Amino acid sequence: MPTIGPRRLVRELACGLGRGAPALRGRLPLAAAEAAWRLGPAAWGRGLDELIFPPCCAACRGALDAAENPYFCFACWQALDLVDWPVCQKCAARVPEIPGDVATCSRCEAQKFAFDQTWALGAYQGLLRELVLRMKQDRRDWLAAVWARVACHRLGDSCRSLAPDAIVPVPPAGWRRWLRGSHPPAAMADELSRLWGLEAVLGLLKKSPNARPQQGLSRPGRFRNIRGQIRLNRNYSLDAPHILLVDDVMTTGATCHEAAKVLKHHGARRVSVLVVGRTPEA
Ligand SMILES: [Zn+2]
Ligand SMILES: [Zn+2]
Repeated sequence: MPTIGPRRLVRELACGLGRGAPALRGRLPLAAAEAAWRLGPAAWGRGLDELIFPPCCAACRGALDAAENPYFCFACWQALDLVDWPVCQKCAARVPEIPGDVATCSRCEAQKFAFDQTWALGAYQGLLRELVLRMKQDRRDWLAAVWARVACHRLGDSCRSLAPDAIVPVPPAGWRRWLRGSHPPAAMADELSRLWGLEAVLGLLKKSPNARPQQGLSRPGRFRNIRGQIRLNRNYSLDAPHILLVDDVMTTGATCHEAAKVLKHHGARRVSVLVVGRTPEA
């Protein structure tokens, strides 16, 4: 029987993601009660409200159509606008299709990003944008776990073939994490590490508590604003040559660039980036 932590078990039971653990079927009520008990009173409110809801679409909470997609109903899956167009290999921006050519966008030709490659799950607009914004408020990290699984579904083989040595989330400003009570990139990195069997180093990077938000700034302003605001946590050392950096949204790439710069300064040789949403125009 596969081993599974109590927190993950509660989450999987609640979200219909437990399909990956068929050996647990038949023991679910007992296992759920046991898991809720082991999580302790502090987590019961969070765990139990999930337990009483049946598996449902992560977007509209409607019934799931079929076993093919355990996360979204057909209509929402179609509305997500996941990447099925040619993208820049470096920054995942949409590019015109040129048969037989490895695409690089004009911005990446002009600007040298410190990261080497980016995967984006979809365009940051419409339903996907709404879900990313909802994920930022989701203290249970349920949507972050869903996105991690969608990433596996969409990018599994290509991500695995790259074989990163560690998964690292882009850090939040300290006070913002405290206000929200959650940090989706860390929750995604944590889930991906379980799914791919890779190490996640959640506290490797730190952002200055004084870092100002990037929203509303121009493209050059964003690069200026984030410069020097991310550093390696002094309690960690970096001995992973290839890092997979995880974030929720890439707009100009300034934050991932700064994070990748720090990682490479401390010895990383390659930094790949995974984001849920890529802004269509940045
Ligand atoms: Zn739906
Ligand atoms: Zn590019």
